[in-house]
Amino acid sequence: MTSYDYIVIGKGLMGAAAARHLAAESQSVAVIGPDEPADRASHQGIFGSHYDEGRITRILDPDPIWAQLAQRSLNRYRDIETQSGIAFYHEVGHLMVGPEPEAETDFMACVQRVANDLNVACDTLADAAIAEQFPHLAFESGSMAMYQPDTAGHVSPRSQVRAQVAAAQKQGVTVIPEIVQRVDPTTSAMAVTTATGQVVHGQHVLVATGGFSNTQALLPKPLEIDVYARTIVLLELGPDDVSRLQGMPSIIYKPRDPAGHCYILPPIRYPDGKYYLKIGGYPQEHTLSSLEALQDWFRGKGSVEAARHLEAKLHRVVPGLHPVAVHSDSCVTTGTPSGQIYADRIGDGRVGVLVGGNGSAGKSADEIGRVGALMIAHDEWVYDIEAHHFRARFAAV
Ligand SMILES: Cc1cc2nc3c(=O)[nH]c(=O)nc-3n(C[C@H](O)[C@H](O)[C@H](O)COP(=O)(O)OP(=O)(O)OC[C@H]3O[C@@H](n4cnc5c(N)ncnc54)[C@H](O)[C@@H]3O)c2cc1C
Repeated sequence: MTSYDYIVIGKGLMGAAAARHLAAESQSVAVIGPDEPADRASHQGIFGSHYDEGRITRILDPDPIWAQLAQRSLNRYRDIETQSGIAFYHEVGHLMVGPEPEAETDFMACVQRVANDLNVACDTLADAAIAEQFPHLAFESGSMAMYQPDTAGHVSPRSQVRAQVAAAQKQGVTVIPEIVQRVDPTTSAMAVTTATGQVVHGQHVLVATGGFSNTQALLPKPLEIDVYARTIVLLELGPDDVSRLQGMPSIIYKPRDPAGHCYILPPIRYPDGKYYLKIGGYPQEHTLSSLEALQDWFRGKGSVEAARHLEAKLHRVVPGLHPVAVHSDSCVTTGTPSGQIYADRIGDGRVGVLVGGNGSAGKSADEIGRVGALMIAHDEWVYDIEAHHFRARFAAV
């Protein structure tokens, strides 16, 4: 029977990072999770939220914990690229835009305060300066922007996972490309059973299975999470638009009307060789709870209504586009009531969870992986941000 000190379940953004960090704690680590499906539309198994080429990365954030998790992750991107030989980070800068704040608790005031506290190098711009510096973009009047030119931009989540896994393997981590069906306690270890019937034993198990965390018998009790169905739109661009938008930063825009909130990725070259501009942020997405509902959603292309709404929004923020084609896609985000990740042990402490990206963990996944690794490897909480922020909550059964 194969046995490890630590088994990470879920080879996504957070799990792959946790496996790499656990390699610093032990020579006996395995990460178990399926590879990306070759054809999503016909795939019968599990999906992940990292099957894409663009995730915004930035330190700017209204929440100090998320900002720190991002800052610490960003500072390690280049090392991970070097260790793995796989590039995933594009340092094109980030632009965060919202109404000029009137109160200390307003969105942009919070972003500004956190940026000051963490010494984030960025420029604060008012209406005229935004228009001058970013003439190809349009925001409502009375906006304020914070522009972080360095240590920000976008990452390829797909390549980031590959890089984390490759770096972990170089440090001795075993990769088992399977779906886990159940986790059961035995007196000597936790027994992890995969979909092919393989049983692997672990002294400790860290569950990092994203939106699928409650859908199989992985945890002693279900987590209190909301898994949101998300739609994104990809505008395929011609060479003129690609060249016109060169140097465009990643954008988060929160105008006064919440229906206008969105995030936009600059033109990114996808594996098909074409360039796409991506937008997300539809206000009325629904939640998914069963395995079947999640699988159905991932097999589809998102909501037609959301895609229409997003496409119109993209044309408003980036006027004058002449897209060659418009595509939509589906994904899920996993929300927790606190808005923070869950990094916590359950029951007798042999099982831990690292779940709840809240739509923001792509950029911060490396430090989140470190939080999870330290949490499961040490009986006491040793991370410098207090444990209560990351405490898991469980659904009423
Ligand atoms: C449309 C969209 C846009 C986003 N944009 C951004 C952004 O701009 N910036 C940002 O920072 N974040 C962004 N995010 C959020 C980010 O992608 C997620 O927070 C992140 O993917 C969460 O990582 P995770 O490891 O928890 O989950 P995932 O990345 O989904 O990984 C979970 C893994 O667990 C595996 N798994 C599940 N069940 C099992 C099982 N039973 N056995 C084995 N393996 C299993 C899955 O196969 C998957 O690989 C976005 C998310 C979406 C959906």
